[in-house]
Amino acid sequence: MPKSARKPSTYVDFKAVKAAVSIEAVLERYELLDDLEAKDDGYSGDCPFHEGESQRPFHVSLSKNAWYCFGCEEGGNVLDFVARMEDVSIKKAAQLLAEWFEVESARKGPKRQRGKPKAAEADSEGAAADSEGAAAEDEALSDSQEPHTEGPEPAKRASEGDPGEEFANRPLGFSLKNLDAGHELLEPLGFDRDTIERFEAGYCAKGMMKGCLAIPIHSPTGELLAYAGKALDNDDEYKYPPKFDRSLELYNLHRAIELAEEDGLILVADILDVWRLTVAGFPKAVALMSDEMSSRQEALLTSFVGEHQRVLVLWPKTAERDAIVKRLASQAYVKVMDLNEFFA
Ligand SMILES: [Zn+2]
Repeated sequence: MPKSARKPSTYVDFKAVKAAVSIEAVLERYELLDDLEAKDDGYSGDCPFHEGESQRPFHVSLSKNAWYCFGCEEGGNVLDFVARMEDVSIKKAAQLLAEWFEVESARKGPKRQRGKPKAAEADSEGAAADSEGAAAEDEALSDSQEPHTEGPEPAKRASEGDPGEEFANRPLGFSLKNLDAGHELLEPLGFDRDTIERFEAGYCAKGMMKGCLAIPIHSPTGELLAYAGKALDNDDEYKYPPKFDRSLELYNLHRAIELAEEDGLILVADILDVWRLTVAGFPKAVALMSDEMSSRQEALLTSFVGEHQRVLVLWPKTAERDAIVKRLASQAYVKVMDLNEFFA
């Protein structure tokens, strides 16, 4: 091909590349598929980026068009994968992918859907929700890779995408299998197996959450976002994945949400207090996962609780509690109780 035939351009449409190229096609190009084991929604196996682990830390979701490695604690979309493989910027990775898979930029014409993962198209239930989730995930992932980008990309992306998406946690894209709700190490926590299963949690024997009670955290619409790992040798410790921002979520909101409209919500700090309240017959509790309330959490709380409904704040008597109550009191009917008295 004569050089002049293709006008050199640094412009590359990230969204078009992500929409057009499947993670499966990328893995195939690197001849990695044979080494991976097929599972329901993708693959798992040895990680192409790090070595020396006997488990299968590397996971690929076809419906999310994404990958994640528990060993590296890293993951992302096709751009992130190629950037990591080639040790180049996200922008360069997008240019490479556009070249390899002949992706036309959206600026020149309609977006090409070629190579879109079949799983996403064939997904019978919740296909729309899935693709929305994937889009949000893509945005979040691009943003999380900011240090690797060059030139004017961030501004361009910001104008392309929904600005709200930057502030969302991306869906996880897979769930932990083999969590043991009946593990003996969970007994000291004082919950029966049914309760632990009700919250889809369990003892995790491998990976990043090894030795922890792994507790799934969902978006308000019920998408799995991350696992909190409750350490079993220390009462106060929770582990969260590095890219998960817990200040953007309220634990258990997707379950409590239906009750909230009629009945208001109960606000606590700790995830396991939500469990205790549920066992005690109060399933409408949500947790901040912290002693502080972010403005996003405040907005979530007040948007799901009508003016005439109440938020019961169950908290030990502290300055943090007073600050939270003050902020909520202007927007909802707030009642306060000492957490320990409530359970007494
Ligand atoms: Zn890895």
